[in-house]
Parts: sequence; C-alpha cells; structure tokens
Amino acid sequence: DAVVHWFKRDLRMSDNKGLFLAGDKAREAKVPLVCLFVVSPQDYEAHGTSAARVDFELRSLEVLKRDLAERDIPLYVETVEKRRGVPDRIVELCGEWGAKHVFCNIEYEVDELRRETLLTKKCLENGIDFTAVHDDVVVAPGRLSTGQGKQYAVYSPWYRSWVASIHENPDLLEEFEKPEKNPESAREKFKAIFDESIPKAPENKKLTREEEKRFEHLWPAGEHEAVARLDKFLNEKIGRYSDTRNYPAANSTAMVSVHHSAGTLAARTSVRMARNVNRTKKLDGGNQGIAGWISEVAWRDFYKHVLAHWPYVCMYKPFKYEYTNIEWEYNNDHFDAWCKGKTGFPIVDAAMRQLNHMGYMHNRCRMIVASFLSKDLLLDWRMGEKYFMEQLIDGDFASNNGGWGFSASTGVDPQPYFRIFNPLLQSEKFDPDGEYIRKWVVELRDVEGKAIHEPYGRGAEDIARKNGYPEPIVNHKECRDRALERYKVGLGRS
Ligand code: FAD
Repeated sequence: DAVVHWFKRDLRMSDNKGLFLAGDKAREAKVPLVCLFVVSPQDYEAHGTSAARVDFELRSLEVLKRDLAERDIPLYVETVEKRRGVPDRIVELCGEWGAKHVFCNIEYEVDELRRETLLTKKCLENGIDFTAVHDDVVVAPGRLSTGQGKQYAVYSPWYRSWVASIHENPDLLEEFEKPEKNPESAREKFKAIFDESIPKAPENKKLTREEEKRFEHLWPAGEHEAVARLDKFLNEKIGRYSDTRNYPAANSTAMVSVHHSAGTLAARTSVRMARNVNRTKKLDGGNQGIAGWISEVAWRDFYKHVLAHWPYVCMYKPFKYEYTNIEWEYNNDHFDAWCKGKTGFPIVDAAMRQLNHMGYMHNRCRMIVASFLSKDLLLDWRMGEKYFMEQLIDGDFASNNGGWGFSASTGVDPQPYFRIFNPLLQSEKFDPDGEYIRKWVVELRDVEGKAIHEPYGRGAEDIARKNGYPEPIVNHKECRDRALERYKVGLGRS
C-alpha cells in the first residue's frame, strides 16, 4: 500500500499543503508516501512553455528528489507523451504501487482543471480517493466577493478584502510541515525509483549547452535557493522597495517570480515572511516597502482569482468582450523587430534583450514593451503574450495574461485605452541615467547624457549609425493617434 502526492507547480517540500496532507495520510495509515511528477511535452507545446522554464523545473526536481530521499520518500518522474494519457497513467501507477489515495494542489487553468476532472473520474472508477487542495494562492478563489456577492474585477477593493480576509483568518498564513520520514521498508520496496535519475528535457524543449549554463548561473533552482533569495531581499532591500521598485537598473526587487511560478516558493511563505519582518505584524500599514511588496504578491493571487472566475481568458479571449473587434496590424517586420530588440526605441530594445538573455524582464519594462506592442505597433496583444511565455523563465499564465490585458486595455482592471505610454518619457523617468539601456544595448554604450533615450534626434546619430543601431521603426505621435482611432472604432465609439 502507499499514498501518492502528485507534484506539479509546487516543487518544494516545505509549506506545501497537498504534500503535507499526503504525508499525514500515509503516517496515519502506516504506509509509505510516494511522490510523482509527470513531464508532459504536449502540454509544454500547447502552452508555449519556454525551454528555460522546463529546464528550471527539471533542475528543481533534482533538488526535490534529493531532499525527499533523505526522508526515504521516493520521487518518480515520468514523461508521458500524450497529455490525455496523464490521468490513465497516474491510475496505472497507483495500481503498481498499491496506492489508494492521490493528493495534489489545484492548478486553475482550464486544461489543468479538465485533466483533474478526468483524473477524478478515473480514480472513482478504480476505487482510489483523489484530493486536490488550494495551495497555489494565499486566499482561495471564491472566498472573496463584493457586497453584491460578485467576483471583483478591480484590484484595489479586491486587495482590501484580501488583506481583511487574512487578518481575520491568520491560519491562512500558517506553515505546513514537511512530511515525516517513510518507514524504512520504503527504501527496499521502491529501490528502482530511488536509483533513477531525473529525465532530460523533451526534444521540443531542449536548451543549448551555452543556454543551460547561463540559466543555471542566473537562476539556481530549488526551494533552498528560493528562501535564500527571499531572505536576502527581506534583510537588505524590502524597506526601500516602494521607492526603488520602478527603476530597472536599481536591482531592487526580490527576483523570486521564477520560484513562485515553479512552486519552489509558496506565495503563502513569501507573505508570511514579509509580514514577520513588519513591525506591525500586519500585511498593510507599518513599513511602506514591506506593505508594498506584499501587495505585489497579492497581484499574483488576484490574477488567479480572475482566471478561476472567468476561465474564457484562457481561450484567447479578451476579458472585456467589447475589445474583440479592434483591428490589429499584422506587420511581421514590426513584430520581428520587437522580439529582437531592434525597434530603435532604446528602452524597448533594452527590455526585449534582457528578456531574450535572462528569460526575465523588469516589471516596469514589461509594461513599457507590452504597451509599445499593443498601442504603438498596434499588434495583436496575444502575439506579445505568446512570445513572453516562450521566453520567460517565470512564465505564469494568469500573471502574464493579466499583465498583457492591463497594458493592452483589454483586460480586467485595465489602464484606459486612451492612456498610452510614451516610451521616451518612460525611459527618461525610470532609467534617468540610461544605465539599464547601456547594459543591454551595447551599440549605445558610448552615448552620453540624455541622447541615450533617443540617439537619433539628440546628437548621438553618429555612434548609433556606426554601431548599427536602428532608427525608430515608427513615429510615436502618429502611432498614438492611430491607436486612439482604432480602439475607438473597435469599441464602436467613433
Ligand atoms: P517583485 O517586485 O519582487 O514582486 C514580488 C512578487 O510578486 C513577484 O515575484 C511576483 O510573484 C508577484 N508580482 C509582482 N508584480 C506582479 C504583477 N504585476 N502581477 C502578478 N504578480 C506580480 N509575473 C510572473 O510571475 N509571470 C509572468 O508570466 C508575468 N508576465 C507579465 C507580463 C506583463 C505584460 C506584465 C506587465 C507583468 C508580468 N508579470 C509576470 C508580473 C511581474 O512583472 C513579475 O512578477 C515581476 O517582474 C517579477 O520580478 P520580482 O520577483 O523581482 O518581483
């Protein structure tokens, strides 16, 4: 006999609700706990998962496997080619292991919910109990509603209700203990699993050797790294977060999104640890930096609530139905220039090159490039959303979709369509010394002063031209007018 925990995007031993419950059940029943992870190349393909993210998952699984083994808990990792085959395979494995109970944490995206529904059915048919619990978010979707009993579509009132809910139910932030050591017999019984190593990335998601090394260096994997990163941030930077978070050159944010995304760090752990360093021991109030940071982690919860409540956002539909009819440009040259960081707008190009190199981009820059794509270039925001997913190591459907919806004005709680970022002003405001631009756009390293924001037009033409830096591919003022017109027509307001 055995109890199974099915790992997904919760690749950690500590503070993991599903794993805790599975461990508890196994201890009670005096049977071993067996852990499972399924690699699904078809899901990676369907969701445009980046190779960097797959690599990060596999590296995190290695850490997890070692940690679990210290408690004599086996972690079995198998690649299942067809995603529809995943539930059947889990049930089959339960049969092999004699397991009568499977636990997991819920993922809220549509494909994942469908898979879990199918698994529920298969488990029922085979006399297996299946328990899926809320763990990915601090407050479960469905728990917060407006006075009229509706789901919030605006962040601020939702956030107030989120804070109140946690203050009223402090147990929401309580830590779940790690599972206990397995009975010794588990070593013998599951010897083959203990001996197996973590598989390599599937063919469709392989990194080059150079990329592997780069990402390993930039983003060390596993839960210990996650907590170390968070600790360092809480000790050294969080106090000044509110003042510094918008400056991409300041290196002032926690850089833990990759861990939240892979589940090597629970959002609950982050919020609890941040709250604990706040003098007031509250989520809001007290130190502004701490409260501000917690409210950013809350955005992650918010977008997951939106996704759970309006699942059609998973189906390439804008949250706001009336934005379905905007006529987009499908200019491949523009899209290509945007992807490669060759638009001739230094702040946009710096950001896109950071993304391509690190699998990561600073939040302010994500907003700038998303606005540039959807408003200046008037390209379909879904092209940008997809490209982000294909590059980001922290790619998360809800946050990415929410971020794109915000910037393209098609989403929940958007910026109004007539508020269009001016890339030049954004650049001058948030990268005043051009430090971020110089780091990523090598062609402009020797440009001095304000010309860094606009080399053609401010006297740095010679350097820019000599180094092959492109001239702006569009004129912002003209683009702005075009976007306003097109959005108006699309919305039937012209
Ligand atoms: P910090 O500033 O230290 O914030 C702490 C944590 O809060 C982050 O790790 C993250 O989990 C959460 N967070 C912060 N800002 C946001 C936000 N706006 N929305 C949701 N959660 C937030 N974040 C992702 O994790 N995955 C994505 O795929 C993603 N795509 C985005 C696309 C666009 C167009 C935009 C505008 C934002 C996107 N974000 C995404 C949100 C945000 O940019 C990143 O979470 C943040 O830059 C991560 O850096 P950090 O860990 O240093 O963040």
